[in-house]
Amino acid sequence: MKTERGEVMRSNLNQETIAALATGRGGAIGVIRVSGPDAVAVADAVFVARSGKPLSEAAGYTVHFGEVVAGGSGGEGALGREVVDEVLVSVFRAPHSYTGEDAVEISCHGSSYIEARILGLLIEAGARAAEPGEFTMRAFLAGKMDLAQAEAVADLIAAGDRAQHRLAMDQMKGGVSSALAGLREELVQLAALLELELDFGEEDVAFADRGRLKELAEGIEAEIERLKATFEQGNAIREGVAVAIVGRPNAGKSTLLNALAGDERAMVSDIAGTTRDRIEERVVVGGVGFRFVDTAGLRATDDELERMGIERTRDAIRRARVVMLVMDAVEAGVCDIEAQVAELGLREDQQLCVVLNKVDVVGALDAESGSVGSSGAVLGTVSGAVSGEVQAWFSAADFPGSVFEISAKTGFGLDALRDWLVGTVDVRGFDSGAAVVSGARHFEALSRASDAVGRVLAGLRGGFSASEVCDSGSGLSSDLLAAEVREVLHHLGSITGDITSSEVLGAIFSKFCIGK
Ligand code: GDP
Repeated sequence: MKTERGEVMRSNLNQETIAALATGRGGAIGVIRVSGPDAVAVADAVFVARSGKPLSEAAGYTVHFGEVVAGGSGGEGALGREVVDEVLVSVFRAPHSYTGEDAVEISCHGSSYIEARILGLLIEAGARAAEPGEFTMRAFLAGKMDLAQAEAVADLIAAGDRAQHRLAMDQMKGGVSSALAGLREELVQLAALLELELDFGEEDVAFADRGRLKELAEGIEAEIERLKATFEQGNAIREGVAVAIVGRPNAGKSTLLNALAGDERAMVSDIAGTTRDRIEERVVVGGVGFRFVDTAGLRATDDELERMGIERTRDAIRRARVVMLVMDAVEAGVCDIEAQVAELGLREDQQLCVVLNKVDVVGALDAESGSVGSSGAVLGTVSGAVSGEVQAWFSAADFPGSVFEISAKTGFGLDALRDWLVGTVDVRGFDSGAAVVSGARHFEALSRASDAVGRVLAGLRGGFSASEVCDSGSGLSSDLLAAEVREVLHHLGSITGDITSSEVLGAIFSKFCIGK
């Protein structure tokens, strides 16, 4: 059922007080969150302040030292009374809290036993265990943030590198939301003009300037397309940019991967399977997360096991945004390179770099000049590593990628390669604060909005009448156009949660952890 935020609020936001552990395991401190109309009373039932004053007398934004006690907070010496922990309690008063409700945060020692005991006591005192994401859902329902911002909270907590962090932070601060708010205003204008047309259509008053309508709709379409276009980048950053490292055995792929990882290695994830050759590794380079897949290369073979490896390599290449072809610089010959590049079968949207490795083997290097630039750049800054023939071939303007001469072993040329990698992800948009769409749900809503705008434009271009479909066939009546405009508004509204269903909300917030 579709409903406005206010209705969801009335139906879902009940009078229950919820509690959950907000911190992870293993820390020195654990924080238990309590939120709801009875948050302070529930906390008072388990907490005895050193000051002797109950929390019910405490103002918002105050912190209180004391003890959590089991067996009643009836003062020292009370029968069966057991001190569970010494804690700090922060008090928040509605609406000045994360959820917009009265809320309490209990900071205790980070023992899972203590945390569980305190939670148990709070529940005994009348709180209910919170569902996943329930605190953030309440924040959304209370109008503290819109849906896109609420989703960004989950991304922010999960952010593992600088780019992900900026993406989530921008969305949480309302980057995407404000871009959508601008669009909404224009759509409302468009709808108003169409409705005027409807109201006066029968009297044959031509006043809504069709040119103006079209202009408005085109502007809206362009903005939606712009937002949609940011998704590929936003999603890559969110998931990690996929890079396939391809090359013959012993070309130095693993050594290169290790060298790139350096100190910034985030985590190693072996992909399960029988194969010896497909390992995905997440490495943060220049603040951007990359997912490197080390592959077996594409050598033609009769060996069954190797054939399976080749299939996996093909799969990894298909999924990659960036492909790094690693070759032994000593052995690399033009025909070989050409053949290997051709075998990759890259698409237009993929980026290629050929990495000529082991240049340290080939005589003295000019240490000043590690980089060899992109397509068309003149090689020859590295003395003697690569044959003149190979250099000339790379210099040809039609080479479809970038070339680097490196030594994975000594680190020579790696900085230039890292810079190039970071350059494949355009993070400039972030620096200028432009909204970047990263959620698949948002992208889908934008796509639907864009389809509806397309229909509006087709209707406007085909000419339209106030009440009936025009004879020209492609034109739409203004009431149908107005319906399409409302549909665009609906899809955009579903991103920020202005218009949403309780099922959608449930699905979104259930993906959160408990305590968020
Ligand atoms: P892979 O099969 O492509 O993963 O290749 P490895 O990374 O296992 O490297 C194969 C061999 O080449 C190893 O003995 C490496 O030490 C060596 N190697 C890798 N990179 C370099 C390099 O830049 N210079 C030199 N001299 N040896 C290298």
